[in-house]
Amino acid sequence: MLQETPLRSAAAGVPGEGKRPHAARPFFFISDLHLSEAIPRTVAAFEHFIRFTAEEADSVFILGDLFEYWVGDDMLGDPFVAGMAALMHTLSERGIALYIMHGNRDFLLGKRFMTAAGAIWLPDPFVITAFGARITLAHGDALCTSDRAYIRFRRFARCRAAQMLFLASPFKWRHALAQRMRKASHEGRSRPVSPKYDVTHEGVAALLKQTGTTILVHGHTHRPARHSEPGGTRWVLPDWDLDHGERRGGYLRIDATGLRALPLD
Ligand code: MN
Repeated sequence: MLQETPLRSAAAGVPGEGKRPHAARPFFFISDLHLSEAIPRTVAAFEHFIRFTAEEADSVFILGDLFEYWVGDDMLGDPFVAGMAALMHTLSERGIALYIMHGNRDFLLGKRFMTAAGAIWLPDPFVITAFGARITLAHGDALCTSDRAYIRFRRFARCRAAQMLFLASPFKWRHALAQRMRKASHEGRSRPVSPKYDVTHEGVAALLKQTGTTILVHGHTHRPARHSEPGGTRWVLPDWDLDHGERRGGYLRIDATGLRALPLD
């Protein structure tokens, strides 16, 4: 599904329309935080980002894999998860809009979670207009078109009937399955080693053509960069990990001067 919008943000309407004095506040983009209780330093960095860094933003976009795994909105019964949702909810209370796209690990984030976090769900891909630029947003997993097995799994996993069956099964069983899948995952905590697990030029070109845009922002690959592609510019968001060796993390910011990649405070 593809949507076209200038977003109506909770804070200020559409940037550039000048309805409110702060209509030119920037948009921030993050992804691949893989939050869980097992990575307290990363969780603390996210808390700092939401409480302080995001303060000047008009809108915050989380482009997938906010959580390490998500097996249903009944995870909100977990105090850690409920705390993260409450933290994100402070954004809307402060007049900052929060948009969340599914990743390959948390594609079951549902309405109950979005309400608890004060967030608006975005389909993948999604086109926004920000500061005069049309930008395609995606998690990025659907662009890894050489990994045929994954693309097949993705098609199955995003099917509503399969999801309803899964969500109707006992919480303990869903939780156990998620642990097994995480162990079996080639994604791991570090960067994928094979080019098979990166986006393909064909996948990127097809998406840019489909959306009629020349700017793409995505995450997923844990290879933060700015690439010049035949069809336009591709910005890859960093994953966050402050708990294993070298600190990883950061965000993209767009304002009237354009897009730039910034480190964590
Ligand atoms: Mn991912």
